[in-house]
Amino acid sequence: MNGKINYLTEFEPAYLELVNSGEIDNRIETLYSKLEQCDICPRNCGVNRLDGEIGYCQAGTDMVVSSVQPHFWEEAPLAGIGGSGTVFLANCNLRCVYCQNYDISHEGKGNSITEEQLADSMLWLQRIGCHNINLVTPTHYTPHLVKAVAIAARKGLRLPVVYNCSGYENVETLELLDGIVDIYMPDIKYGGTESAKLYSDAPDYFEVCKQAVREMHRQVGDLVIDRTIALHGLLIRHLVLPNNGADSLQVLEFIANEISRESYVNIMSQYRPAYRALEFEGIDRSVYIEEYYNVLDMARGLGLRRGFPNE
Ligand code: SF4
Repeated sequence: MNGKINYLTEFEPAYLELVNSGEIDNRIETLYSKLEQCDICPRNCGVNRLDGEIGYCQAGTDMVVSSVQPHFWEEAPLAGIGGSGTVFLANCNLRCVYCQNYDISHEGKGNSITEEQLADSMLWLQRIGCHNINLVTPTHYTPHLVKAVAIAARKGLRLPVVYNCSGYENVETLELLDGIVDIYMPDIKYGGTESAKLYSDAPDYFEVCKQAVREMHRQVGDLVIDRTIALHGLLIRHLVLPNNGADSLQVLEFIANEISRESYVNIMSQYRPAYRALEFEGIDRSVYIEEYYNVLDMARGLGLRRGFPNE
């Protein structure tokens, strides 16, 4: 470490205070204790993951990582010029039928690694010039990831930590991340129950997600961008589905009316029928351009303006 972290030299990540006070160790202990009757996420499986039992997400005792790499195709404020330092975690607590990474999320492709090994990988991402540590699908490995961040921070990690999740989160778990995560990046996938049940086996998705996003925003506020790079705050993603499968208006109304009109919302058009999507009438094709433009119009009409093409 030469003390120069890309061009965020003045930046101090959220977790440093808790690392310096030792409070992060209490959080880690509490998070690991939740694995004994796992209620890390809203599936509340109750299995003892510390004893090797496996719940809905298929994650066991050890953390499984698919890859660690700089990623240049993330949102521009994360990718910057040095890339976003992505850690792709295997398995998932949502397991959508149209998953674009099903080999990683459903089949668990990856290798078991220790928290110490991941901490060293985080430091490598910092060394090569990445702008953040981007934890992709982190929910089910929250205890391991916080421990890895603590180890890395004690060895010099100073990059913002991004919690890049599906939005299906327990508020109790998120409360334990308060002061540790710098940037929350949740999807808001559905604004209704039918699609959430059909495609993700989670009819309560929207209600759970709304509570989670309120808590995330309470912790970090709107996204703060300094010299084109995101430092802190909430970055929401919404993937438009064909045939209004995502109930986009309800999602955008929630963001505009209950979170903030200053929310940074990446409205995504890249849906492709992957994995088992062809078995489901309605999501068995890509999104038509007019469907996507329609959602952009809705967002503009609600007064949202950040994170998507606004002309
Ligand atoms: S993290 Fe996995 S085992 Fe734990 S409650 Fe969620 S789905 Fe179940």
